[in-house]
Amino acid sequence: MWKESYINVTLDRVKLCLIITHIMSLSRRRLLRAVGGTFAGSLAWQLPPFPRSKSDELEASAGPILLNRNESAYGPSTAALAAIRASFLTANRYPTSEYASLTEKIAAFHRVKPEQIVLGAGSREILRMAAAAYLSHSKPLVLARPTYEPIAGFATALNAEIKTVPLNARHQHDLDSMLAQTGPSTGLVYICNPNNPTGTITPRKDLEMFLAKMPPDTTVLIDEAYHDYVARSADYSSFIDSPISDDRLIVLRTFSKLYGLAGLRVGYSVASPRMSQELRANSLQWGVNTLGARAGLAALDDQDFVAKIAKQNRDDRQEFFNQSNARMLRWIDSQTNFVMLNGGLPPQHIIDHFQKHRILLGPLIPEMPKFVRCSLGTRPEMLEFWRAWDSLPPHPMAM
Ligand code: PLP
Repeated sequence: MWKESYINVTLDRVKLCLIITHIMSLSRRRLLRAVGGTFAGSLAWQLPPFPRSKSDELEASAGPILLNRNESAYGPSTAALAAIRASFLTANRYPTSEYASLTEKIAAFHRVKPEQIVLGAGSREILRMAAAAYLSHSKPLVLARPTYEPIAGFATALNAEIKTVPLNARHQHDLDSMLAQTGPSTGLVYICNPNNPTGTITPRKDLEMFLAKMPPDTTVLIDEAYHDYVARSADYSSFIDSPISDDRLIVLRTFSKLYGLAGLRVGYSVASPRMSQELRANSLQWGVNTLGARAGLAALDDQDFVAKIAKQNRDDRQEFFNQSNARMLRWIDSQTNFVMLNGGLPPQHIIDHFQKHRILLGPLIPEMPKFVRCSLGTRPEMLEFWRAWDSLPPHPMAM
């Protein structure tokens, strides 16, 4: 009896060991697949390449389809991936030289001085730095609604008053009303251009007029996270690429969107040396890691990739509009990699329906109770999207 239970326990232990060994080998295989490639230089061994095979793609596609966070569906460029792979061997070092080289590269890319660049763990970290530098209980934030919200969260944490101004009928910033909310005590004005969640542009000439009328000491932050997707037009030009002489401006960019590096968390701002210093005083030391910094360096060098993905996104967006039109759905014209769609049904109903089909859409936007925000995915992902759409109950506009 005793012998039998001893043998059973021993067998169970052996089984457990075998299971653990199997799991470890599986995770190792996955890890190798995920980080694959050749380490820099002379290492004698190699890892397999990044996921590209049919089975890898099937495995990757087993999770939900992510159309909820406006990430790039196309991932990083080959050059950025190679830079990431080549960075592993220096993972034991702090990213000092990478900070310097990425700062210099961005400065050269935008034809500004390195002192004008601040790096952050995503541009969200720079939003936090700006809130810490310019907002307080006596220095309010002025922003549109709906817009990208984290800056409001940072303001709340600092007990700063938040003055919100609805977007106008064209889903642009209502700059006259924002100006009316701005006074000598205003700490920061936040402008998201193109705006998230609407994907719309506030015209350049209106922004210039607004800046000219602003109180002299008010800091304005223009968030250009989606700049790389915007088609050039008379209505749009970046305040980095076509600067105006205004020391109160901070302009934000990120590697998280078109460059496809959201997971590595690299963003930056361009501002005057004085304001950059004020932001930096509130930064993490080395919030950007070695892999992210090196990926960013390589990504900036690969402007062909930028042009290719921007074109792909324009085509994807047009296809989205075509499919919406075929179903008599209304949408807001977008300059980004996401679209606000009026599905003629309560948005929460649509979001829940898609979740059941393992497709995640953007969150509910209280100010836009008829719309859902959909990030653009790859072609197979969008086929799934429309398949799920067509299984929704008929909507009143289509009847
Ligand atoms: N700004 C806008 C308008 C965004 O939509 C986002 C992310 O979705 C961010 C900034 C933050 O991006 P990240 O912190 O990844 O650079």
